[in-house]
Amino acid sequence: MSKERAIILIDMDSFFASCHIAKDNSLKDKPIVVASPNARSIVSTASYPARKFGINSGMPVFMAREKCDDLIIIEPDFNLYVETSNNIFKHVKEEFSRHLEVISIDEGYVDVTNEWKKYGSVKKMCDEIRNSVYKKFNLTCSIGISTNKFLAKMASEMNKPNGCFTLLQKDIDKFLWPLPIEKMYGVGRATKEILNNENIFFIKDAAQFDQNFFIKKFGKRGISLFENINGIGEDTLKELNDESKSISNEMTLMRSTSSIQEIDDLYFELAKLVTKRLTNNFQKAKVVSVHFKYEYNYNYDGFNKVRHSQRTHHQHTFVKHTNKLEDIFSAVKELFYELWDERPIFFIGITVGNLISVLKEPVQVSFNNDFEIPTKVDGFNSILRKINSKDSGNLLMKGEEFERKFERNQSKDNAGISKIDAERINEKRILENWKNKK
Ligand SMILES: [Mg+2]
Repeated sequence: MSKERAIILIDMDSFFASCHIAKDNSLKDKPIVVASPNARSIVSTASYPARKFGINSGMPVFMAREKCDDLIIIEPDFNLYVETSNNIFKHVKEEFSRHLEVISIDEGYVDVTNEWKKYGSVKKMCDEIRNSVYKKFNLTCSIGISTNKFLAKMASEMNKPNGCFTLLQKDIDKFLWPLPIEKMYGVGRATKEILNNENIFFIKDAAQFDQNFFIKKFGKRGISLFENINGIGEDTLKELNDESKSISNEMTLMRSTSSIQEIDDLYFELAKLVTKRLTNNFQKAKVVSVHFKYEYNYNYDGFNKVRHSQRTHHQHTFVKHTNKLEDIFSAVKELFYELWDERPIFFIGITVGNLISVLKEPVQVSFNNDFEIPTKVDGFNSILRKINSKDSGNLLMKGEEFERKFERNQSKDNAGISKIDAERINEKRILENWKNKK
């Protein structure tokens, strides 16, 4: 591995469920699932003991209950997940390598090319990372090791939970090619369908074809598909630093959804991640854009990618730079409801751009009634964060978060979308735009 890059992917094991177990040790070794408290809800994560009963994410809760009498159902706590995720990646960055690309709430690539020698081998370094994360957060993770991002991602699936796996290009015929094509990172339902129609069911079937075949089928995307199948992939991380022009957080859902409450919660979670990253980098953003993908469509490449950033009238520009969750989330919601046509979606994302460093930000003083002193608010936010980042969990939350929690509890007994949820979303302006469009 000496000349090539050493890229690893850290993937937290059954992250949502594990966060609850880490907080409350009495849940350890018990079958638990994280699911919204309504009659039609779906399992979002299952702990490993629950998986032994055949319970999986995406399964309706009533079905999971039938499989296991003692099943414990826990309401999602996105605040807990975001906080934990943030602390874990900060720890990795400070203790192991500052070359980090967080790709979702529980996964991140780390480039350890310059660091692993201290540990003797990449594998030893990864064991050290796993031990250290476990000691500090009481959470286990699995790590994939390779020379590029794609193979590291695939390797992270191969020794789960709480394990490491090294997958190098020379071994892809042994470990990668025998897998079903849909197990390949980047192959979604639409791509799978197209490949199945060509009698491609395993990655090894796809490996028989040359690059032109994939270009013909998938356009530009076919090139990376072909390369990945042959163990070649991107080895440069999208790192964040002071010079970053934009920050995005995206998430592929375990199943598609058209539930307003779920989509709202997920966007809220992403908005928090983006906000955190801005704050950690001492940055503020001037624009925000929203993207998502519908479950199915029959476009030329099998994907319907709605990207706000390509449609300037849907991109929101703030009056002044901000890193406030309230600003970002309300803009995100508005953008989303302007575009969404109620079909199920399986991928969501937020990008903030036109960033400036808070340290270089010109002091703005306005002389109208709402005279404000930004430092005080920022000071409050940072105190809040400090208190919340101590081991005791979240002692404090801001008004909006509390409201969301409260409303969620209120809606516990209702099936599907409760009135309160609908009302919360139906902020007049957003809803009117949405109705006018139909
Ligand atoms: Mg995971």
